[in-house]
Amino acid sequence: MHPQFIQAVKQLIPPQRYFDDPLETLAFGTDASFYRLLPKLVLRIESEAEVIALLKLANQYQVALTFRAAGTSLSGQAVTDSVLLVLGENWQQREVRGLGEQIRLQPGVIGAAANSALSKFQRKIGPDPASINSCKIGGIVANNASGMCCGTAHNSFNTLAGMRLVLFDGTVLDTEDSQSVAAFRQSHAPLLAELELLGAQTRANSELSAKIRHKYRLKNTTGFSLNALTEFTDPIDILSHLMVGSEGCLGFISAVTYNTVAEYPQRATGLLVFPSVESCCRAVTLLKQQPVSAVELLDRRSLRSVEHKAGMPSWVQGLSDNACALLIESSAQTNSLLQQQLAQISASLAAFELEQQVAFSSDPAVYSQLWAIRKGTFPAVGAVRQTGTTVIIEDVTFPLEQLAEGVSRLQQLFDKYQYSEAIIFGHALEGNLHFVFTQGFDTPAEVARYDAFMQDVAQLVAVEFGGSLKAEHGTGRNMAPFVELEWGSEAYALMWQIKHLLDPKHILNPDVVLSHNPQLHLENLKPLPATNPLVDKCIECGFCEPVCPSRKLTLTPRQRIVAQREISRLTASAEDAKRLQQLTSAYQYAGTDTCAACGICSSACPVGINTGDLTRQLRAENNQRWQGVAAFIARHFRVAAAISRLGLAVGNLFGAVLPRWHKAMPTANTVKITSLDGESLTPVIHLASCSGRVMGPATNSKDKRSLAEVSAHLLAKAGYQLIMPEGIAQQCCGMPFQSKGQFAAADYKQRELEQWLLKVTNNGEIAIFSDTSPCSLTLRGKLDPRLKIYDSVDFLHDKVLPKLTLTPVAEPVALHITCSASQLGQADKLQRLLSACTNRVVIPEGISCCGFAGDKGFFLPELNASALSALKPQVSPCLQGVSTSRSCEIGLSHHSGIEYQHLMYLLDRCS
Ligand SMILES: Cc1cc2nc3c(=O)[nH]c(=O)nc-3n(C[C@H](O)[C@H](O)[C@H](O)COP(=O)(O)OP(=O)(O)OC[C@H]3O[C@@H](n4cnc5c(N)ncnc54)[C@H](O)[C@@H]3O)c2cc1C
Ligand code: SF4
Ligand code: SF4
Repeated sequence: MHPQFIQAVKQLIPPQRYFDDPLETLAFGTDASFYRLLPKLVLRIESEAEVIALLKLANQYQVALTFRAAGTSLSGQAVTDSVLLVLGENWQQREVRGLGEQIRLQPGVIGAAANSALSKFQRKIGPDPASINSCKIGGIVANNASGMCCGTAHNSFNTLAGMRLVLFDGTVLDTEDSQSVAAFRQSHAPLLAELELLGAQTRANSELSAKIRHKYRLKNTTGFSLNALTEFTDPIDILSHLMVGSEGCLGFISAVTYNTVAEYPQRATGLLVFPSVESCCRAVTLLKQQPVSAVELLDRRSLRSVEHKAGMPSWVQGLSDNACALLIESSAQTNSLLQQQLAQISASLAAFELEQQVAFSSDPAVYSQLWAIRKGTFPAVGAVRQTGTTVIIEDVTFPLEQLAEGVSRLQQLFDKYQYSEAIIFGHALEGNLHFVFTQGFDTPAEVARYDAFMQDVAQLVAVEFGGSLKAEHGTGRNMAPFVELEWGSEAYALMWQIKHLLDPKHILNPDVVLSHNPQLHLENLKPLPATNPLVDKCIECGFCEPVCPSRKLTLTPRQRIVAQREISRLTASAEDAKRLQQLTSAYQYAGTDTCAACGICSSACPVGINTGDLTRQLRAENNQRWQGVAAFIARHFRVAAAISRLGLAVGNLFGAVLPRWHKAMPTANTVKITSLDGESLTPVIHLASCSGRVMGPATNSKDKRSLAEVSAHLLAKAGYQLIMPEGIAQQCCGMPFQSKGQFAAADYKQRELEQWLLKVTNNGEIAIFSDTSPCSLTLRGKLDPRLKIYDSVDFLHDKVLPKLTLTPVAEPVALHITCSASQLGQADKLQRLLSACTNRVVIPEGISCCGFAGDKGFFLPELNASALSALKPQVSPCLQGVSTSRSCEIGLSHHSGIEYQHLMYLLDRCS
């Protein structure tokens, strides 16, 4: 890369957003596709001004740039061996217009966050990719992504109301700003004239324009959006619509305005199983005319892939070999309208013979279960694949009339190429089928098998059936060699004309969408070597990234796994000792030390991976020499706790001169042993966490009572007496040991706790109240089943709240749902509890785990600071915050400027 380019970039981008070392470039070299390219340089970009400057520099020095939003793309369009520009933490602006009819969004907003901004208006954005909880607007627009309900009518192309974009030369055009448009018409008159001419020529070419119309009748993301030329005459409109689906090859999308669509509150889902693919697809043609919002097809093999999952009807296992199912959803504004629609849909299908069915249901438990079947199919194939193979999801469209034939011809190809595990499912109304299969790329024979299969698929779908090879996932590198086959030479030449016009120096994501390399789809295939059974099933989808507290500081869960895979590959191959050493040593801080081991990543992972487990295991390997010390502390826990308490007392005394001491630090706490003193109250054993026992409220806290006092006071109002028995000082759930990989010491503490609890509860006769979420999570399923342990949230919600009379406070209150509470499935209960205390519950966006991680907040405060960097502005209207973990509250208070205390403090005050 040109040294002057590097020099100029270094002046533009601060070092903390400039990545060029082996670990960083490897970590960012991955998207969700099965391609891997190592960028030479990765820059986290935070403003449009930076994009403009970088585009100008790239043009000047002929350096290729690739944009990255969330990196969940499947076709290889978000990877590069040149410079990768990753959207940073800015780009979050959103502006809801009117009563939610429109929304303007910056490209870093996650799709689901855009929908939460619209939910109170019962609106949503049109595009609905299955990845919506992690993918970002920039990627949604640039891929023209879509999903189960959106069809072609509601994709980005058809719901676009305006766009702000940056061209290859750094010029900004904002189609909603008349001054910007006028200036652009002047400054770029020749370019607009060319676009206008291309449009006029295309519309005048009846054969070509008919082909374009035909292709976009179906879902299609192969090649550039040529329908921009047939559907618009104003070159400004042509330009903004060409940007949709351009995969970062025609310019940068800086903001987009969507016309939103209705999100109806009433919905019902049913599952109908037909005896054959043919009758199933005939039903789809009829359903096209019915009031349905989604119709998902599942072939027999898809159903088989999930037939052993919990909650699956047992009859699924007995279905015939040719069975094919439709999952049908209908939605409406009112329940009576919904019922009418359901009757109409059922009547339209009355003549069909069904093998089995689950009748339409509006019960959330039933329809969530049905959708879980559909959503579980892709991960199910990913989870059963052989280690070292990759899971590939293809994305084709057949004309609806030929859907049945398309399905059986695909199944024949699976047999021909021995993809016995391959499954087919998809958005039936659009003829859009996904097929999922596993593939090794480690031998030339396997690569050749994949190539031969894909050549046959391309002939079948694009040539024989006139369908599209990429319905919604984008062309990327995967289909770039097949664009001409699908579109024909005239349309293909037109796409190249557009590319030359809007990217004359070919610096924007070269080889993506259009490429002269016919072998591109077989190059740079990603290795997925075995590294650790805990994470070997990872499909590198990136769904875990938005929830990880270290994502802004060091690595994400996906990047940790990518790095470990490469470390294992290099260790096994002995290919490059220097690189192995560089990766291993950089991983210590970036991978191991700065992982909070919180496990929240598992809640977002389609194959259930908890990267924290991997971290703990790596720590165990690193920390073997400390085993003796851990065992000693575990045995003398009472003394260790007393020393910690002393430490807090000393810290508060000398806080002013200790560098890391701040006013949110806790005071030292003392524990009062209590026993049952009245017969009128129901006794409950108080399992007070060691953090709560050692740490009192902060020095400047308004309520100076200890958590134990508050809990006892609150629970007494509901008729319970909390008992803190003798021996509590020695107890611990084991989490502090477990998170450091000291598994033997953790187990020792859990067995000791078990014996003590059996004793003080009289073998489980008395219920146990665990006041801290992380302890409750750690103990889940680990102790004698006779012990009835209630986490405080469950106990408060189920047993205390109904007996309280509450007077809510007037002001908004911030709620931090700890990562443990999320994993315990308590988010709804927490919101209900807090809603009883205030009318305005504020839950900050993008903060799933605070990163304090027990004691890490004391020793590695940058993790906590990074995880909570977006907290303060979001909770600014609040005077207080609540949580359910004392250590989390230290960091939350410190980084928000308001005091966070256990929810029980507020409940006690309001009741
Ligand atoms: C398990 C799984 C399921 C999926 N399901 C679906 C689905 O149902 N439907 C579907 O359509 N897709 C699906 N996808 C694919 C993918 O998630 C979507 O296409 C998504 O919209 C990509 O968004 P992203 O933020 O990850 O973008 P990225 O992958 O980061 O980028 C996508 C493309 O956009 C470009 N780009 C990003 N930001 C900008 C910008 N600001 N300006 C210009 N170009 C930009 C990039 O260069 C790249 O070419 C799925 C992926 C996975 C892993
Ligand atoms: S850990 Fe899970 S969520 Fe994260 S990239 Fe891997 S498969 Fe996806
Ligand atoms: S355990 Fe927590 S910090 Fe570690 S990778 Fe998972 S989400 Fe990130």
